Amino acid sequence: MTGVGGRSKTAGLKLRRLHKSFGTFEVLHDISLDIEAGEFVVFVGPSGCGKSTLLRLIAGLEAASAGDVFIGGTDVTERDPSERGIAMVFQTYALYPHMTVGENMGFGLKAAKRPKAEIERKVREAADALKLTDYLDRRPGQLSGGQRQRVAIGRAIVREPDVFLFDEPLSNLDAELRVDMRIEIARLHRQLGNTMIYVTHDQTEAMTLADKIIVLRSGRIEQVGSPRALYDDPDNVFVAGFIGSPA
Ligand code: ADP
Ligand code: MG
Repeated sequence: MTGVGGRSKTAGLKLRRLHKSFGTFEVLHDISLDIEAGEFVVFVGPSGCGKSTLLRLIAGLEAASAGDVFIGGTDVTERDPSERGIAMVFQTYALYPHMTVGENMGFGLKAAKRPKAEIERKVREAADALKLTDYLDRRPGQLSGGQRQRVAIGRAIVREPDVFLFDEPLSNLDAELRVDMRIEIARLHRQLGNTMIYVTHDQTEAMTLADKIIVLRSGRIEQVGSPRALYDDPDNVFVAGFIGSPA
């Protein structure tokens, strides 16, 4: 990897028998999964099937009702989000409107009390990689949707996470921009080599980005496989409906 911090640090993930209930409603049921370091894994499934909840459990933004999350071989189930080596990109950017692009991107490092020179260097490198160099002094309100999402991705990159989590990052963008950003994310994955876990309900995104697709249905894993394998050999009509081939 070159340009963004000059390091290549990544980790695999193991989910073991994860459950999550809200009250009596079980949103995730017995999720076990192995993700290799550097793999691009895409979760697909209908609205409400538990995709965001699963990402939030991995991130530590939500506590599991049962089960364990291992990142890089370490049990992080009890750890705070900031101590898991992850960074998350949301559908709704979640940028601070009163801060500049540069300040938004460096905020996490500043909060972690990293030296100013280091923050500036990392923000500059991430801005280069994302074609945001000319926008560092603007505020989010002066940017297009695509540029805002780039800032959100840049903010994740500067933290040099082992694992990136993306929750439908492109679904607020128009179709053309979505294609551009998809290509950009694929390029970033090649460049950084990090593990990326990506939620989408866009079949094209899933098929083109994923090394491995995980189909979720009502809080359970329905099928796991490469895009090709799921397309050629879906286990059932539900998977076929999501991935595209006639069952
Ligand atoms: P997806 O991202 O696949 O659309 P979510 O993980 O957001 O699904 O939600 C899964 C289910 O859990 C939905 O029925 C949703 O209403 C419910 N849910 C999510 N978060 C909460 C919460 N904090 N409290 C109660 N129910 C929730
Ligand atoms: Mg969701």
